Amino acid sequence: MPNELKPTIGLEIHVELKTASKMFCSCVNDGFEKEPNSHVCPICLGHPGTLPTVNKEAVKKVIKTGIALGCQIPEYSQFDRKNYFYPDIPKGYQISQNDFPLCKKGFLSINRKKIRIRRIHLEEDTGKLYHEKESTLIDFNRGGVPLMELVTEPDIESGIEASCFARELQTILRYLDISDADMEKGQMRIEVNISLSSQKKRLGTRVEIKNLNSFRSVERAINYEIERQKKEKVVQETRGWDESSQTTKSQRKKEEAHDYRYFPEPDIPPLSSREFIGEIKNEIKELPQARKERFKKEYGVDEKIARIFVLNKDLGNYFEETISELKEWQKAGKGDGDALKLAVNYLISDIQGLLMGKSIKTILITPENFAEFIFLISEKKISSKIAKMILLEMFKTGADPSDVIDEKKLLDFDDHKLEEIVDKVILENPEVVENYRRGKKEVVQFLIGQVMKFSQGKADPQKTRERFLEKI
Ligand code: ADP
Ligand code: MG
Ligand code: ZN
Repeated sequence: MPNELKPTIGLEIHVELKTASKMFCSCVNDGFEKEPNSHVCPICLGHPGTLPTVNKEAVKKVIKTGIALGCQIPEYSQFDRKNYFYPDIPKGYQISQNDFPLCKKGFLSINRKKIRIRRIHLEEDTGKLYHEKESTLIDFNRGGVPLMELVTEPDIESGIEASCFARELQTILRYLDISDADMEKGQMRIEVNISLSSQKKRLGTRVEIKNLNSFRSVERAINYEIERQKKEKVVQETRGWDESSQTTKSQRKKEEAHDYRYFPEPDIPPLSSREFIGEIKNEIKELPQARKERFKKEYGVDEKIARIFVLNKDLGNYFEETISELKEWQKAGKGDGDALKLAVNYLISDIQGLLMGKSIKTILITPENFAEFIFLISEKKISSKIAKMILLEMFKTGADPSDVIDEKKLLDFDDHKLEEIVDKVILENPEVVENYRRGKKEVVQFLIGQVMKFSQGKADPQKTRERFLEKI
């Protein structure tokens, strides 16, 4: 179609890095929602005479992101001063990178389409302003936090593609422990650049959209802007997404744009990335997309489960160890294929529930004991009710499941005892038995339930049913 207008979108994404300390000082990088201005020092407050020291951990995290996204890591990289005057930056300039970023020319594939990444650089975050009625308050806890900026080429063509890109990036950042990248906490901030291209004009006039606080608003703002740009004359400007009206509103025109007068930061020597690269490559063993596919193939789990084991890497590792232990147990048993499914279910629901948000790394149950536990269920050696009791005890003490069974005499329940209870239940429920005999076969369920109650879950439901069918 000759006159069709094609959306052309590029993203600028800022990410706060999860490091122990800030970018250029030793303040603890943990000031979010803490007492305002409690995580500050003369360096991050920009006092004259102070000198910045580069946080190596932050440099490594940016390079790690770059390697994960197939970037080139240039041998030479440097910091620059980005000059502007605003209260959120007490020095009057932000230390950033202009001409020599840490990473260049990478890509991230979204539904098999390559979205090119132009650059990834490192800078410092600014303080946060709180506009009150008649004054503005400043909190510098965020000032000087390591901030990574990633810029894509304008390769994105729709709102959904943009949000998929951002989500996939978030997965990678979390997986590699680069950032928690929580948009609500401002740890990941997305700016959208969007224009409409036609055959005549490949890159149309572009608009930048800010104030996007969720993946959903990224998507909606783009969809809104595509329609608006088709109808209105587009001028180059910055617009803000307004959540309440679900529209974008003009914030500032191009003429008001800054000239940052970049120049090399004289207080920081150039960075040489080479020394880190080998080490970082070794740390990235498997990337999220590859891990997800491997889990699906190797264990036959579905997309949703595979995703959980990718995002919660420790849980995924625990699962893998369990399965390898389970194989040993299965050599001794019938080798029930459902054991794997049981392991998945117990891990994702019961164990996760018991952990109450804590990491699987804190668990006392070893993968070996957990595998034995799963094996006992899959071999029908214990009922699911007893299993819950055992699991709780294992969780509290880290005990071996067979020890729990012995100690609590959980399987101390023989046929003779079952017989006794079945007889008792028949005697105590004459009407129910009568109903059964008249053809209401389903009431046997009630009788089995009674046996379960008296035996505290120790009776085997199948055996109990058989006893009843014999007797009534
Ligand atoms: P600036 O220097 O104003 O930040 P850049 O050239 O660095 O502009 O580009 C910023 C972002 O805007 C990049 O993600 C880029 O892909 C995107 N971009 C550039 N030109 C266009 C355009 N015409 N339409 C949509 N996005 C664009
Ligand atoms: Mg830019
Ligand atoms: Zn500081």
